[in-house]
Amino acid sequence: MNRLKRKIIHFVLLLFVVWATYQIAWARYFYIVTAYCNCPVCINIPKYRDGYFASGKKLYWGAAAADPAVPFGAKIELVPQSPKDFLDILFLLRGRFKYRVEDRGGKIKGRHIDLYIPKSLGGHKKAIKWGKKRMRIKINGELAR
Ligand SMILES: [Zn+2]
Repeated sequence: MNRLKRKIIHFVLLLFVVWATYQIAWARYFYIVTAYCNCPVCINIPKYRDGYFASGKKLYWGAAAADPAVPFGAKIELVPQSPKDFLDILFLLRGRFKYRVEDRGGKIKGRHIDLYIPKSLGGHKKAIKWGKKRMRIKINGELAR
């Protein structure tokens, strides 16, 4: 009985170490990944709804907004953390993992990226469906911290 007790304690400790390592080495670098479209709800300043991103490029599918620390043109890649993330990328984002930074946003600061979803892809409805996810991303091929 005593041996079993010790085994259980060791197992719980092991689980804790694995969990703590995951939190410290991986999950602390999670980004918030949201989505937006070119509507008055998503872009509430009319002059920014001019059909162009902050980079000056015309709106296109495959662009995203990021913190000003990430330069325009930087390549973003989503790193899904769960089967649900994977399926949502597959079905809501047409399987697109890679985006290019073209935009900025008042609320897009720090570890937060906002994926642009054009009307032809479902726009606002899709953006709401996507919601707010937490996952790691790659910036120009490297896992972002
Ligand atoms: Zn919208």
